Amino acid sequence: MVDQDVTGGEVADPSSRDQAAQQGIARRLGEAGFALPGTYLEYAHVCGKPNCRCGADPPRPHGPYHQWTRKVDGKTVTRRLTAEQARLYGPWFKEAQRLRSLLSELETLSLRIAQRGANGL
Ligand SMILES: [Zn+2]
Repeated sequence: MVDQDVTGGEVADPSSRDQAAQQGIARRLGEAGFALPGTYLEYAHVCGKPNCRCGADPPRPHGPYHQWTRKVDGKTVTRRLTAEQARLYGPWFKEAQRLRSLLSELETLSLRIAQRGANGL
């Protein structure tokens, strides 16, 4: 549903500064590497059992464990990665984050331009 008919809407052309910013973002997007969806978490575990090494002094927690959580068909799926998988794929989560942040930057920039027009966009 559209709120109302828009008549006489003004458009704002991107300035040369806007275009430079857009090109900067596009260039960084163009350097995209492999990117995995979801979140990656590395953590250690203290089991609390008496006399376990994790409660020793100094403590030696279990792990590190490498956990990958993502949505598959609308359901949250958590998988444990091996140390080798984490070493290889860990940077791919960071890359996905970088790309999301760049896309968000681009959307913010574009929104600012569109809002310089009229009609309460
Ligand atoms: Zn323990």
